[in-house]
Amino acid sequence: MFGSFCPDYRVKSIYDISAKWLKRNGCDKIVVDIDNTLLPRDKSIVGPRALNWIRSMQQQRVNVALITNNTGDRIDGIIRQCGVGCIKRAGKPLPFCYKQIKKAFGGGKIMFVGDKLLTDVLGAKFSDHPVILVQSLGGKEHFLTRLMGSIERFIFNRLVASGKMPKERVL
Ligand SMILES: [Mg+2]
Repeated sequence: MFGSFCPDYRVKSIYDISAKWLKRNGCDKIVVDIDNTLLPRDKSIVGPRALNWIRSMQQQRVNVALITNNTGDRIDGIIRQCGVGCIKRAGKPLPFCYKQIKKAFGGGKIMFVGDKLLTDVLGAKFSDHPVILVQSLGGKEHFLTRLMGSIERFIFNRLVASGKMPKERVL
């Protein structure tokens, strides 16, 4: 039970994901959730560390794109700062956005990264993509996301108790 909510890998933050590891696993494309994965949801400025991580991935020929269920000026500003492609209003976990991304990237193995089991992990698993769970950066969440928080915690704890949840590591 809850297998569709179980990430393939788990890290503390995006900084524990390396281009070397991705490529060793036959993957040169990574799609990163914006809110509370790339930066806290209540911040609009992408920090230098996050920008450097994106640049470094690209220098090592890993294609980076962003994904978010949100939209608006704040998201547009973040996309401009990062200078990479983004699917806004993605509708995770529904499959449409994953089809769009697959088409845009022209196929191949695509790694997804996010902080939520109910959207990032479920969506990627449902569309047959590998997915890495990060710890949420803890910015103030949308009220609906907060409501889902207790369900998230319940599923997370069940996956840990059943031994299915991968251990946090550096990739
Ligand atoms: Mg998020």
